[in-house]
Amino acid sequence: ASQFGIEKALKDLGVMDINHGTSTGSSHFGSGEIISSYSPVDGALIAKVKTTAKEDYEQVMAAATKAFKVWRSKPAPQRGEIVRQFGEKLREKKEALGKLVSYEMGKSYQEGLGEVQEMIDICDFAVGLSRQLHGLTMHSERPGHRMYEQYHSLGVVGIISAFNFPVAVWAWNTALAWICGDVCVWKPSEKTPLCGVACQNIAVEVFKANGLPEGISCLINGDYRVGEMMTTDTRIPLISATGSTRMGKIVAQNVAARLGKSLLELGGNNAIIVTPDADIKMTVIGAVFGAVGTAGQRCTSTRRLIIHESIYDQVKTALVEAYKQLRIGNPLDENNHVGPLIDTDAVAHYKNALDKVVEEGGKIIVDGGVLEGEGYESGCYVKPAIAEAQPDFKIVQHETFAPVLYLLKYSGSVEDAIDIQNNVAQGLSSAIMTNNLREAEYFLSVAGSDCGIANVNIGTSGAEIGGAFGGEKETGGGRESGSDAWKVYMRRQTNTINYTTELPLAQGIKFDL
Ligand code: NAD
Repeated sequence: ASQFGIEKALKDLGVMDINHGTSTGSSHFGSGEIISSYSPVDGALIAKVKTTAKEDYEQVMAAATKAFKVWRSKPAPQRGEIVRQFGEKLREKKEALGKLVSYEMGKSYQEGLGEVQEMIDICDFAVGLSRQLHGLTMHSERPGHRMYEQYHSLGVVGIISAFNFPVAVWAWNTALAWICGDVCVWKPSEKTPLCGVACQNIAVEVFKANGLPEGISCLINGDYRVGEMMTTDTRIPLISATGSTRMGKIVAQNVAARLGKSLLELGGNNAIIVTPDADIKMTVIGAVFGAVGTAGQRCTSTRRLIIHESIYDQVKTALVEAYKQLRIGNPLDENNHVGPLIDTDAVAHYKNALDKVVEEGGKIIVDGGVLEGEGYESGCYVKPAIAEAQPDFKIVQHETFAPVLYLLKYSGSVEDAIDIQNNVAQGLSSAIMTNNLREAEYFLSVAGSDCGIANVNIGTSGAEIGGAFGGEKETGGGRESGSDAWKVYMRRQTNTINYTTELPLAQGIKFDL
């Protein structure tokens, strides 16, 4: 780690002094049990973090609720100015935070920097948006009346995030929630608690420098039990939860039981359709990046390639060749393409997926396996694998959160390929590789892909912050980031004003008063 400047990064981010379990001194780091954060890169214990006990949680909620009253009264463009400053701070801390993301989560340093860049981008987007929280005006049917709608701040937004985007998902939510006048309480993944502490430190610095209460940005740490404190809490009108479908189903029920709102960003089972008119070179680049980037641990990772029989062998051969070039190793070393999985449990799931696909009759064409020896001491490095499979295999229907790519063959038309693609429980990202306009347009039509994201001649992986991000079916239906995703962080109010001296009643009803 020292070779890659990790200690310096930890120090810059103020997470060094929580080593050995001592608190950073912020009231938001609790008195609960301790989580030890181990790096999947080299297996080292990075630091320990105290979790949030029930009493700590009550303190956090008191601070957040109080801060909301201050924050919501600030004009939205002034809130935008604070988010602008936060974006500037992120620019200063980009290298340090990118490094911590890489070291604690295991994605490449380049991807770590990319994640911080996404945070910066959403801040820029939010700053502009802070002057555009528009409602509509409507023509009233009554004379002398004016009708319009406006958006008000919602309150405390609870954010629950996954390990694989340990900082960006928080920023996607907070940057928008903040300009909307909400305050945020964040529970990061228990697998990446230091990323949470580092981000909180950056936010606190900005709010403090502006004489604003720290409760506008709150951090709580711990596992699902701490998450459940928020999902069952009637003081939190909106829960934004990112993670597995299993988690989403529990969170959705807890939030719905109290008629709260939830924004769910859950698992995907993303496919690229490769038609006879595809550019094979582009297909291979898109598929390899989508399948092995972040070691297959993106919600938008490419899991399935649905290839027309006429070009199947050609695509298969090109993929096998491309996989031979992949270098697996320390993600902080820019020469490597594939880093480790998050932990040894993830390695067990990966191995299980490879066993299952063979049991169900599939054929492994690029061998998997766990790497051992020098540089692989953490036990989390695995070989990206490719298997030939059938669309209805149980394992293919399931999201395998690891670098395992399933090749599926179709014959017939693009409709047949789309049927295979849509015939899974998840609906996040999808793509078609084709130079045929009719196929491309059909794929994007109402009869085409049923996913929240549908791309043409781009892979499934990643997304720009300017578009609304999210997916259908078991992916949860939520949308965050760009477009009009901000609306979920606000409450809509319809206002009617009568500027006459008469009060006409609805449905012609008259009172003789
Ligand atoms: P996970 O579901 O295990 O955990 C996610 C978060 O939910 C963690 O913070 C966890 O502590 C919390 N949690 C778990 N159970 C909870 C409960 N009952 N109540 C409240 N909180 C609870 O997911 P993970 O392994 O960290 O992440 C991987 C998964 O996340 C994959 O399925 C991936 O596709 C998905 N993901 C989706 C998106 C998206 O935008 N659609 C983005 C990133 C990751």
